[in-house]
Amino acid sequence: MRAFGSVGGEPVFVQRAQGPFLYGADGAAYVDYVGSWGPMIVGHAHPDVVAAVQQAATLGCSYGAPTAGETDMAEAIADAFPSMEMSRLVSSGTEATMGALRVARGFTGRDLIVKCVGGYHGGADYLLVKAGSGLATLGEPDSGGVPAAIAATTRLIEYNDVAGLAALFAAEGQQIAAVIIEPVAGNMGCVPPDAAWLTALRALTREHGALLILDEVMTGFRVARGGAQALYGVTPDLTCLGKIVGGGLPVGAYGGRRDVMSKVAPLGPVYQAGTLSGNPLAVAAGLTTLGLLRQPGFYEGLEASSAALAAGIEEAAAAAQVRVRVQRVGSMLTVFFTDEPVRDWPSAARCDRGAFAVWHAALLANGVYWPPSQFEAAFVSAAHTPATLATTLAAVAQAFAAVRAQSPKE
Ligand SMILES: *Cc1c(COP(=O)(O)O)cnc(C)c1O
Repeated sequence: MRAFGSVGGEPVFVQRAQGPFLYGADGAAYVDYVGSWGPMIVGHAHPDVVAAVQQAATLGCSYGAPTAGETDMAEAIADAFPSMEMSRLVSSGTEATMGALRVARGFTGRDLIVKCVGGYHGGADYLLVKAGSGLATLGEPDSGGVPAAIAATTRLIEYNDVAGLAALFAAEGQQIAAVIIEPVAGNMGCVPPDAAWLTALRALTREHGALLILDEVMTGFRVARGGAQALYGVTPDLTCLGKIVGGGLPVGAYGGRRDVMSKVAPLGPVYQAGTLSGNPLAVAAGLTTLGLLRQPGFYEGLEASSAALAAGIEEAAAAAQVRVRVQRVGSMLTVFFTDEPVRDWPSAARCDRGAFAVWHAALLANGVYWPPSQFEAAFVSAAHTPATLATTLAAVAQAFAAVRAQSPKE
Protein backbone atom coordinates (compact mmCIF):
# COMPACT_ATOMS: atom_id res chain seq x y z
CA MET A 1 0.00 0.00 0.00
CA ARG A 2 2.67 2.48 0.98
CA ALA A 3 4.53 1.79 -2.27
CA PHE A 4 1.44 2.82 -4.34
CA GLY A 5 1.80 -0.59 -6.01
CA SER A 6 -1.75 -0.80 -7.28
CA VAL A 7 -2.06 2.72 -8.68
CA GLY A 8 1.48 3.17 -9.98
CA GLY A 9 3.36 6.42 -9.58
CA GLU A 10 5.58 7.56 -6.78
CA PRO A 11 4.40 7.47 -3.18
CA VAL A 12 4.43 10.73 -1.24
CA PHE A 13 7.18 10.92 1.37
CA VAL A 14 5.57 12.74 4.25
CA GLN A 15 7.31 15.48 6.16
CA ARG A 16 4.55 16.46 8.57
CA ALA A 17 0.80 16.59 9.03
CA GLN A 18 -1.58 19.05 10.63
CA GLY A 19 -5.37 18.90 10.95
CA PRO A 20 -6.73 17.51 7.65
CA PHE A 21 -3.48 18.12 5.75
CA LEU A 22 -0.40 16.11 4.89
CA TYR A 23 2.75 17.86 3.71
CA GLY A 24 5.13 16.04 1.41
CA ALA A 25 8.89 16.23 1.76
CA ASP A 26 8.83 18.55 -1.28
CA GLY A 27 6.52 20.94 0.59
CA ALA A 28 3.34 20.06 -1.36
CA ALA A 29 0.14 20.09 0.71
CA TYR A 30 -2.59 17.46 0.41
CA VAL A 31 -6.02 17.05 1.93
CA ASP A 32 -5.60 13.68 3.62
CA TYR A 33 -8.29 10.96 3.43
CA VAL A 34 -6.01 8.13 4.55
CA GLY A 35 -5.62 9.38 8.12
CA SER A 36 -2.84 6.84 8.78
CA TRP A 37 -5.36 4.18 7.61
CA GLY A 38 -7.87 5.11 10.26
CA PRO A 39 -6.53 6.36 13.58
CA MET A 40 -6.57 10.12 12.94
CA ILE A 41 -10.28 10.76 13.56
CA VAL A 42 -9.65 14.09 15.33
CA GLY A 43 -7.16 15.20 12.66
CA HIS A 44 -3.38 15.26 12.72
CA ALA A 45 -1.37 16.78 15.56
CA HIS A 46 -4.44 17.73 17.58
CA PRO A 47 -3.10 20.12 20.26
CA ASP A 48 -4.65 18.16 23.15
CA VAL A 49 -3.16 14.88 21.95
CA VAL A 50 0.25 16.45 21.38
CA ALA A 51 0.20 18.00 24.87
CA ALA A 52 -0.81 14.69 26.49
CA VAL A 53 2.02 12.82 24.79
CA GLN A 54 4.56 15.53 25.67
CA GLN A 55 3.44 15.49 29.29
CA ALA A 56 3.55 11.68 29.46
CA ALA A 57 7.06 11.62 27.98
CA THR A 58 8.37 13.77 30.82
CA LEU A 59 7.27 11.01 33.21
CA GLY A 60 9.19 8.27 31.43
CA CYS A 61 8.46 6.42 28.23
CA SER A 62 7.82 2.91 29.49
CA TYR A 63 7.85 1.04 32.78
CA GLY A 64 6.82 -2.52 31.95
CA ALA A 65 4.54 -2.34 34.98
CA PRO A 66 0.85 -1.62 35.59
CA THR A 67 -0.35 1.99 35.52
CA ALA A 68 -3.61 3.74 36.37
CA GLY A 69 -3.76 5.05 32.79
CA GLU A 70 -3.99 1.52 31.44
CA THR A 71 -6.94 0.81 33.74
CA ASP A 72 -8.59 4.10 32.73
CA MET A 73 -8.23 2.99 29.14
CA ALA A 74 -9.85 -0.39 29.80
CA GLU A 75 -12.71 1.44 31.53
CA ALA A 76 -13.09 3.92 28.67
CA ILE A 77 -13.26 0.97 26.27
CA ALA A 78 -15.84 -0.89 28.36
CA ASP A 79 -17.90 2.30 28.59
CA ALA A 80 -18.17 2.49 24.80
CA PHE A 81 -18.20 -1.29 24.23
CA PRO A 82 -20.26 -2.92 27.00
CA SER A 83 -19.53 -6.38 25.51
CA MET A 84 -15.85 -5.90 26.46
CA GLU A 85 -16.22 -6.83 30.12
CA MET A 86 -12.50 -7.51 30.41
CA SER A 87 -9.83 -6.35 28.02
CA ARG A 88 -6.12 -6.55 27.38
CA LEU A 89 -4.04 -3.75 25.90
CA VAL A 90 -1.50 -4.64 23.23
CA SER A 91 0.47 -2.52 20.77
CA SER A 92 -1.25 -3.12 17.41
CA GLY A 93 -4.38 -4.41 15.74
CA THR A 94 -2.43 -7.47 14.62
CA GLU A 95 -1.58 -8.36 18.19
CA ALA A 96 -5.21 -7.82 19.18
CA THR A 97 -6.53 -10.33 16.62
CA MET A 98 -3.77 -12.82 17.46
CA GLY A 99 -4.61 -12.56 21.16
CA ALA A 100 -8.34 -12.88 20.55
CA LEU A 101 -7.93 -15.95 18.37
CA ARG A 102 -5.57 -17.62 20.79
CA VAL A 103 -7.96 -17.17 23.68
CA ALA A 104 -10.85 -18.34 21.47
CA ARG A 105 -8.92 -21.52 20.71
CA GLY A 106 -7.90 -21.92 24.35
CA PHE A 107 -11.47 -21.42 25.57
CA THR A 108 -13.15 -23.75 23.05
CA GLY A 109 -10.36 -26.32 22.78
CA ARG A 110 -10.83 -26.19 18.99
CA ASP A 111 -8.38 -25.27 16.21
CA LEU A 112 -10.32 -23.99 13.22
CA ILE A 113 -10.95 -20.33 12.59
CA VAL A 114 -13.22 -18.84 9.94
CA LYS A 115 -12.58 -15.60 8.07
CA CYS A 116 -13.97 -13.91 5.00
CA VAL A 117 -12.37 -13.76 1.59
CA GLY A 118 -11.15 -10.17 1.35
CA GLY A 119 -11.17 -9.74 5.14
CA TYR A 120 -7.96 -8.36 6.65
CA HIS A 121 -7.17 -8.90 10.29
CA GLY A 122 -3.46 -8.09 10.52
CA GLY A 123 -0.29 -9.97 9.74
CA ALA A 124 -0.63 -13.30 11.60
CA ASP A 125 0.12 -16.42 9.53
CA TYR A 126 -3.32 -18.04 9.77
CA LEU A 127 -4.99 -14.73 8.85
CA LEU A 128 -3.00 -14.05 5.69
CA VAL A 129 -5.31 -16.19 3.61
CA LYS A 130 -7.24 -14.25 0.95
CA ALA A 131 -6.72 -11.20 3.09
CA GLY A 132 -7.98 -8.18 1.19
CA SER A 133 -6.46 -5.02 -0.15
CA GLY A 134 -2.69 -5.24 0.33
CA LEU A 135 -2.51 -8.83 -0.84
CA ALA A 136 -5.35 -8.57 -3.33
CA THR A 137 -3.65 -5.64 -4.97
CA LEU A 138 -0.48 -7.67 -5.40
CA GLY A 139 -2.58 -10.39 -6.99
CA GLU A 140 -1.42 -12.88 -4.38
CA PRO A 141 -4.26 -14.57 -2.52
CA ASP A 142 -1.70 -15.81 -0.05
CA SER A 143 1.57 -14.66 1.48
CA GLY A 144 4.96 -16.30 1.12
CA GLY A 145 6.32 -17.68 4.37
CA VAL A 146 3.02 -18.98 5.70
CA PRO A 147 3.28 -22.72 6.48
CA ALA A 148 0.59 -24.74 4.71
CA ALA A 149 -0.23 -26.53 7.96
CA ILE A 150 -1.06 -23.22 9.61
CA ALA A 151 -3.10 -21.88 6.70
CA ALA A 152 -4.99 -25.20 6.82
CA THR A 153 -6.52 -24.19 10.16
CA THR A 154 -8.31 -21.30 8.41
CA ARG A 155 -11.68 -21.70 6.66
CA LEU A 156 -12.96 -19.12 4.19
CA ILE A 157 -16.42 -17.80 3.48
CA GLU A 158 -17.59 -14.96 1.27
CA TYR A 159 -18.72 -11.78 3.03
CA ASN A 160 -22.51 -11.50 3.44
CA ASP A 161 -22.94 -15.17 2.39
CA VAL A 162 -25.44 -16.65 4.85
CA ALA A 163 -25.84 -19.93 2.93
CA GLY A 164 -22.06 -20.46 2.76
CA LEU A 165 -21.75 -19.84 6.47
CA ALA A 166 -24.54 -22.29 7.27
CA ALA A 167 -23.00 -24.97 5.02
CA LEU A 168 -19.61 -24.56 6.69
CA PHE A 169 -21.11 -24.90 10.17
CA ALA A 170 -23.12 -27.93 9.06
CA ALA A 171 -19.91 -29.60 7.87
CA GLU A 172 -17.36 -28.57 10.50
CA GLY A 173 -19.22 -26.73 13.24
CA GLN A 174 -17.82 -28.89 16.02
CA GLN A 175 -14.20 -27.98 15.15
CA ILE A 176 -14.68 -24.24 14.73
CA ALA A 177 -13.19 -22.14 17.54
CA ALA A 178 -14.23 -18.76 16.17
CA VAL A 179 -15.48 -16.72 13.26
CA ILE A 180 -13.64 -13.42 12.89
CA ILE A 181 -15.14 -10.72 10.68
CA GLU A 182 -14.91 -7.02 10.01
CA PRO A 183 -18.45 -5.95 10.98
CA VAL A 184 -18.22 -3.34 8.23
CA ALA A 185 -15.64 -4.61 5.77
CA GLY A 186 -12.99 -1.98 5.14
CA ASN A 187 -10.11 -3.87 3.63
CA MET A 188 -11.86 -4.71 0.35
CA GLY A 189 -13.22 -1.18 0.30
CA CYS A 190 -16.21 -0.18 2.39
CA VAL A 191 -18.78 -3.01 2.34
CA PRO A 192 -21.64 -2.85 4.85
CA PRO A 193 -23.00 -6.04 6.40
CA ASP A 194 -26.50 -7.34 5.62
CA ALA A 195 -28.66 -7.53 8.73
CA ALA A 196 -29.40 -11.19 7.95
CA TRP A 197 -25.67 -11.95 7.79
CA LEU A 198 -24.99 -10.51 11.23
CA THR A 199 -28.00 -12.37 12.63
CA ALA A 200 -26.82 -15.66 11.09
CA LEU A 201 -23.27 -15.16 12.37
CA ARG A 202 -24.51 -14.65 15.91
CA ALA A 203 -26.99 -17.53 15.82
CA LEU A 204 -24.75 -20.14 14.14
CA THR A 205 -21.69 -19.49 16.30
CA ARG A 206 -23.82 -19.69 19.43
CA GLU A 207 -25.57 -22.87 18.29
CA HIS A 208 -22.24 -24.63 17.59
CA GLY A 209 -20.30 -23.42 20.61
CA ALA A 210 -17.97 -21.24 18.53
CA LEU A 211 -17.09 -17.65 19.39
CA LEU A 212 -17.99 -14.61 17.32
CA ILE A 213 -15.08 -12.16 17.13
CA LEU A 214 -15.80 -8.72 15.73
CA ASP A 215 -12.60 -7.19 14.42
CA GLU A 216 -13.38 -3.53 15.06
CA VAL A 217 -9.79 -2.36 14.62
CA MET A 218 -11.04 -0.09 11.83
CA THR A 219 -14.70 0.41 12.79
CA GLY A 220 -14.27 0.82 16.56
CA PHE A 221 -14.90 4.45 17.59
CA ARG A 222 -15.21 5.14 13.82
CA VAL A 223 -18.66 4.15 12.54
CA ALA A 224 -20.07 5.00 15.98
CA ARG A 225 -18.51 5.53 19.39
CA GLY A 226 -19.46 1.97 20.28
CA GLY A 227 -18.35 0.66 16.89
CA ALA A 228 -20.34 -1.42 14.45
CA GLN A 229 -21.68 -3.56 17.29
CA ALA A 230 -23.51 -0.51 18.64
CA LEU A 231 -24.60 0.61 15.18
CA TYR A 232 -26.11 -2.76 14.23
CA GLY A 233 -27.00 -4.10 17.67
CA VAL A 234 -24.94 -7.29 17.58
CA THR A 235 -23.16 -8.59 20.69
CA PRO A 236 -19.93 -10.49 19.98
CA ASP A 237 -18.07 -12.76 22.36
CA LEU A 238 -14.78 -10.95 21.71
CA THR A 239 -13.84 -7.64 20.10
CA CYS A 240 -10.55 -6.41 18.66
CA LEU A 241 -9.64 -2.73 18.67
CA GLY A 242 -6.71 -0.70 17.38
CA LYS A 243 -6.15 2.40 15.26
CA ILE A 244 -8.34 5.16 16.86
CA VAL A 245 -7.92 3.67 20.32
CA GLY A 246 -4.24 4.70 20.18
CA GLY A 247 -4.84 8.17 18.75
CA GLY A 248 -2.00 7.62 16.27
CA LEU A 249 0.36 5.87 18.67
CA PRO A 250 0.68 2.07 18.79
CA VAL A 251 -2.21 0.61 20.78
CA GLY A 252 -4.50 -2.34 20.27
CA ALA A 253 -6.91 -4.08 22.60
CA TYR A 254 -8.88 -7.27 22.71
CA GLY A 255 -11.54 -8.23 25.14
CA GLY A 256 -15.02 -9.51 25.71
CA ARG A 257 -16.88 -12.01 27.83
CA ARG A 258 -15.49 -12.34 31.32
CA ASP A 259 -15.53 -16.17 31.25
CA VAL A 260 -13.56 -16.17 27.98
CA MET A 261 -11.06 -13.46 28.95
CA SER A 262 -10.48 -15.19 32.29
CA LYS A 263 -8.57 -17.82 30.31
CA VAL A 264 -5.82 -15.26 29.62
CA ALA A 265 -2.79 -15.50 31.94
CA PRO A 266 -2.35 -14.87 34.82
CA LEU A 267 -5.98 -15.87 35.55
CA GLY A 268 -5.89 -18.71 33.03
CA PRO A 269 -3.54 -20.80 30.90
CA VAL A 270 -3.51 -18.74 27.66
CA TYR A 271 -0.24 -16.84 27.45
CA GLN A 272 -0.01 -13.38 25.95
CA ALA A 273 2.38 -10.56 26.79
CA GLY A 274 4.14 -7.51 25.36
CA THR A 275 7.02 -5.39 26.61
CA LEU A 276 5.32 -2.18 25.50
CA SER A 277 1.69 -3.19 26.17
CA GLY A 278 -0.18 -0.34 27.83
CA ASN A 279 2.70 1.98 27.01
CA PRO A 280 2.11 5.27 28.87
CA LEU A 281 2.68 7.56 25.85
CA ALA A 282 0.36 5.51 23.69
CA VAL A 283 -2.28 5.34 26.43
CA ALA A 284 -2.05 9.13 26.90
CA ALA A 285 -2.66 9.71 23.18
CA GLY A 286 -5.47 7.15 23.12
CA LEU A 287 -7.27 8.35 26.23
CA THR A 288 -7.09 11.96 25.07
CA THR A 289 -8.50 11.02 21.67
CA LEU A 290 -11.31 8.97 23.24
CA GLY A 291 -12.10 12.00 25.44
CA LEU A 292 -12.42 14.24 22.38
CA LEU A 293 -14.90 11.79 20.84
CA ARG A 294 -17.23 12.40 23.78
CA GLN A 295 -17.73 16.05 22.88
CA PRO A 296 -21.44 16.61 22.18
CA GLY A 297 -22.21 16.37 18.48
CA PHE A 298 -18.87 14.85 17.52
CA TYR A 299 -20.29 11.93 15.52
CA GLU A 300 -23.18 13.99 14.17
CA GLY A 301 -20.67 16.47 12.72
CA LEU A 302 -18.59 13.70 11.22
CA GLU A 303 -21.69 12.11 9.70
CA ALA A 304 -22.76 15.41 8.13
CA SER A 305 -19.39 16.12 6.52
CA SER A 306 -18.99 12.51 5.36
CA ALA A 307 -22.48 12.52 3.82
CA ALA A 308 -21.72 15.80 2.08
CA LEU A 309 -18.48 14.41 0.68
CA ALA A 310 -20.17 11.25 -0.59
CA ALA A 311 -23.01 13.21 -2.18
CA GLY A 312 -20.55 15.61 -3.81
CA ILE A 313 -18.54 12.72 -5.25
CA GLU A 314 -21.69 11.08 -6.66
CA GLU A 315 -22.72 14.37 -8.26
CA ALA A 316 -19.31 14.91 -9.80
CA ALA A 317 -19.28 11.35 -11.19
CA ALA A 318 -22.73 11.81 -12.70
CA ALA A 319 -21.71 15.13 -14.25
CA ALA A 320 -18.70 13.46 -15.89
CA GLN A 321 -20.79 10.42 -16.86
CA VAL A 322 -18.52 8.04 -14.97
CA ARG A 323 -20.29 5.12 -13.29
CA VAL A 324 -19.34 4.63 -9.64
CA ARG A 325 -20.86 3.30 -6.44
CA VAL A 326 -20.03 5.34 -3.38
CA GLN A 327 -20.40 3.05 -0.35
CA ARG A 328 -20.25 4.67 3.04
CA VAL A 329 -20.82 3.85 6.68
CA GLY A 330 -20.31 6.93 8.84
CA SER A 331 -16.93 8.47 8.11
CA MET A 332 -15.52 5.52 6.14
CA LEU A 333 -16.25 5.37 2.42
CA THR A 334 -15.08 3.89 -0.86
CA VAL A 335 -15.66 5.06 -4.42
CA PHE A 336 -16.01 1.81 -6.37
CA PHE A 337 -15.60 2.05 -10.13
CA THR A 338 -18.49 -0.25 -10.93
CA ASP A 339 -22.22 0.00 -11.52
CA GLU A 340 -23.26 -2.87 -9.27
CA PRO A 341 -23.47 -2.90 -5.49
CA VAL A 342 -20.29 -4.24 -3.87
CA ARG A 343 -21.25 -6.75 -1.19
CA ASP A 344 -18.38 -9.25 -1.15
CA TRP A 345 -14.93 -9.90 -2.59
CA PRO A 346 -16.07 -11.15 -6.02
CA SER A 347 -18.13 -7.99 -6.64
CA ALA A 348 -15.26 -5.80 -5.37
CA ALA A 349 -12.83 -7.58 -7.68
CA ARG A 350 -14.98 -6.74 -10.73
CA CYS A 351 -14.31 -2.99 -10.29
CA ASP A 352 -12.35 -1.10 -12.93
CA ARG A 353 -8.98 -0.73 -11.22
CA GLY A 354 -7.50 1.05 -14.24
CA ALA A 355 -10.11 3.80 -13.96
CA PHE A 356 -9.46 4.01 -10.24
CA ALA A 357 -5.72 4.47 -10.87
CA VAL A 358 -6.40 7.36 -13.28
CA TRP A 359 -8.77 8.95 -10.76
CA HIS A 360 -6.27 8.52 -7.94
CA ALA A 361 -3.40 10.06 -9.89
CA ALA A 362 -5.53 13.07 -10.85
CA LEU A 363 -6.61 13.57 -7.23
CA LEU A 364 -3.01 13.48 -6.08
CA ALA A 365 -1.97 15.96 -8.77
CA ASN A 366 -4.74 18.25 -7.51
CA GLY A 367 -3.74 18.04 -3.84
CA VAL A 368 -5.95 15.24 -2.51
CA TYR A 369 -4.34 12.24 -0.82
CA TRP A 370 -6.83 9.37 -1.31
CA PRO A 371 -6.08 5.74 -0.33
CA PRO A 372 -3.94 4.32 -3.16
CA SER A 373 -6.09 1.23 -3.81
CA GLN A 374 -9.59 0.49 -5.07
CA PHE A 375 -9.91 -1.88 -2.11
CA GLU A 376 -9.40 0.56 0.76
CA ALA A 377 -11.71 2.84 2.70
CA ALA A 378 -11.13 6.59 2.86
CA PHE A 379 -11.59 8.31 6.21
CA VAL A 380 -13.06 11.71 7.05
CA SER A 381 -11.89 13.37 10.27
CA ALA A 382 -13.36 16.09 12.45
CA ALA A 383 -10.65 18.39 11.05
CA HIS A 384 -12.14 18.23 7.53
CA THR A 385 -13.94 21.58 7.40
CA PRO A 386 -16.49 22.65 4.76
CA ALA A 387 -13.65 24.58 3.09
CA THR A 388 -11.42 21.49 2.82
CA LEU A 389 -14.37 19.49 1.49
CA ALA A 390 -14.99 22.14 -1.17
CA THR A 391 -11.33 22.01 -2.24
CA THR A 392 -11.61 18.24 -2.37
CA LEU A 393 -14.73 18.27 -4.52
CA ALA A 394 -13.11 20.60 -7.04
CA ALA A 395 -10.25 18.10 -7.37
CA VAL A 396 -12.75 15.23 -7.55
CA ALA A 397 -14.50 16.88 -10.51
CA GLN A 398 -11.17 17.17 -12.34
CA ALA A 399 -10.34 13.57 -11.52
CA PHE A 400 -13.62 12.27 -12.97
CA ALA A 401 -13.02 14.39 -16.08
CA ALA A 402 -9.62 12.68 -16.41
CA VAL A 403 -11.28 9.25 -16.13
CA ARG A 404 -13.89 10.24 -18.71
CA ALA A 405 -11.19 11.48 -21.09
CA GLN A 406 -9.43 8.10 -20.92
CA SER A 407 -12.48 5.90 -21.25
CA PRO A 408 -13.40 4.42 -24.65
CA LYS A 409 -15.88 6.61 -26.54
CA GLU A 410 -19.33 5.12 -26.85
C1 LIG B 1 -5.58 -2.31 10.35
C2 LIG B 1 -6.35 -3.52 10.69
C3 LIG B 1 -5.77 -4.57 11.42
C4 LIG B 1 -4.30 -4.61 11.80
O1 LIG B 1 -3.95 -3.58 12.66
P1 LIG B 1 -2.39 -3.17 12.75
O2 LIG B 1 -2.37 -2.14 13.83
O3 LIG B 1 -2.02 -2.67 11.40
O4 LIG B 1 -1.64 -4.38 13.12
C5 LIG B 1 -6.58 -5.62 11.80
N1 LIG B 1 -7.87 -5.65 11.47
C6 LIG B 1 -8.45 -4.67 10.75
C7 LIG B 1 -9.91 -4.75 10.45
C8 LIG B 1 -7.71 -3.58 10.32
O5 LIG B 1 -8.29 -2.63 9.58
